[in-house]
Amino acid sequence: MILLSLLLGGWEVVRRIEMLSTPEVQLTGLVAYAVLFITCLISAIGAAFIVRPSLRWLLAILLASGSWLVDGYQWVVGDFMAYDAFVTMMQSAGDLGSAFQQQWPVMLLAATKAGLLLVGVGLRPMEQGHWLTRLSALISLPVILALTVLLFFRGGEGGSGLPSSHSGLSFTLLQGYELVVTSDAERETVALPPLTAAPKRDIVLIIDESIAGAYLDINDEHGVYSGLAGSPKLASIHNFGLAVSITHCSVGSNLSMRFGGTRENYQEAARTMPSIWAYAAEAGLQTVYLDAQRTGRAYQNQMDDEERQLIGQWVQFADVPVVDRDQAVALQLAELLNDDQPQFILVNKVGAHFPVNDKYPDSHKWFTPALPRGSFADVTDMAVPDELDGAAGNWRLYRNSYRNTLTWSVGKFFDRLFAGAQLSNATIIYTSDHGQHLHENPDNGTATHCTPNPAIEEAVVPLVVINGPDAEQTTWRTAAEAGHDRMSHYRIFPTLLSLMGFQQSDILPVYGPDLLSGEADPFTFNVRYNARLGSSPVWKHVPLENVARPPVGDYQKNQTDR
Ligand SMILES: [Zn+2]
Repeated sequence: MILLSLLLGGWEVVRRIEMLSTPEVQLTGLVAYAVLFITCLISAIGAAFIVRPSLRWLLAILLASGSWLVDGYQWVVGDFMAYDAFVTMMQSAGDLGSAFQQQWPVMLLAATKAGLLLVGVGLRPMEQGHWLTRLSALISLPVILALTVLLFFRGGEGGSGLPSSHSGLSFTLLQGYELVVTSDAERETVALPPLTAAPKRDIVLIIDESIAGAYLDINDEHGVYSGLAGSPKLASIHNFGLAVSITHCSVGSNLSMRFGGTRENYQEAARTMPSIWAYAAEAGLQTVYLDAQRTGRAYQNQMDDEERQLIGQWVQFADVPVVDRDQAVALQLAELLNDDQPQFILVNKVGAHFPVNDKYPDSHKWFTPALPRGSFADVTDMAVPDELDGAAGNWRLYRNSYRNTLTWSVGKFFDRLFAGAQLSNATIIYTSDHGQHLHENPDNGTATHCTPNPAIEEAVVPLVVINGPDAEQTTWRTAAEAGHDRMSHYRIFPTLLSLMGFQQSDILPVYGPDLLSGEADPFTFNVRYNARLGSSPVWKHVPLENVARPPVGDYQKNQTDR
């Protein structure tokens, strides 16, 4: 049963060997992998020969759970589960229910594999085993611990293709260790004095979801309608062009936009420094959180009770169908901008996360051919893109559905906002949590973002500052021209603090330069946001000239007046 269970993981073994053999054969890597795999195999069989029933069954349950977790993920995503992905999954445990609903056949298969292991290890062994079985029983647990130590020093990497029971259990131990080590630090209160006058305006940060910067008309002549390209009568729009996101996954980008931090201190900021809400409250602003992604008071992107306490008004949109959520946000935001109360408002939009089949109404089916409609109407986002087998034709359909979604979720959103809102006392910063890899050059990929080896497009986002026409514009106009295609998410938090009235000289040493600063940005994003244990963040530079542009040959356009 144990061997059968391991055999079901054969595909991962083949893939790992393939990875270690292309483009050229890495002999040391292959030998190390073979030794590790065989050691884990001996450990799994040895566990079944442990005589004490309590210990044997405990190990059986732990190994089976690890197997189920890791295989479930790997088979759904179609990629190895790294420690990073493991932690992200545990942190977004709130989404597991919907992931299970979407992917139950795969999860069931993974459960079968885990079940075989559970029974195989757990059943009572033969009375008097061979000395080899007694030895394997003796080293079973030490092997798991040794593997955990090895993964610790490799920052959680190197477990790909090993028996999922062992990598899963080691990951759990490592995360347990981290929870124990890091949970002590208490969050600081605001230490910066707000020296200038308290702000008399609304300060808004709109964090959109999965918006590829180059697919909007403000950044590419073949981009789609964004509502931001013209000059609406009552708004001034300062386009910073293409910007680089903090990282290429939702959680990290959102977290760092709420807690700030530079490329050097972002981990410390997320763990112990004050949130944007704390600064807003200190500056005398009311705090409002418009969350269109989750319902039923579920927290999104690692928010917790402590952070929640500093939010005055928390709005979710459970009664609104997913396709209309962003439109409801536009109306609600307009109301808040018109109420003459100085507020800090953070918006978490539905945006254009997959599935995009049904994220736009029929009236916005401007680009065809698109993905089939009707099956994903109630889904804001899910773990894995559906109906994508990585074929070039599919991605063309996806890009058209994506375009339609943008015209609605971005274009119509801003139309509505500008039609309804009084912007004379507001400053809005608009961006997306991360970009999208839309596979313009055909490949076998099935993911748009948050991949283990990200394409640069996964981190290319729009960045726009909007204020009323009567506000002081020269500074922003100059900054947007100087910073066009040159800025990053890291500039947003210090900009918000500066708008709130904190002194730039106080902000700079802690949070780095803001959008008005002339200092050059490294234009890099964090490929390993959750760097931990013995590993460090990895920064990937985005060469602007290599960013994929929307292919014109994708579509027939059904809407001609825009
Ligand atoms: Zn996202």
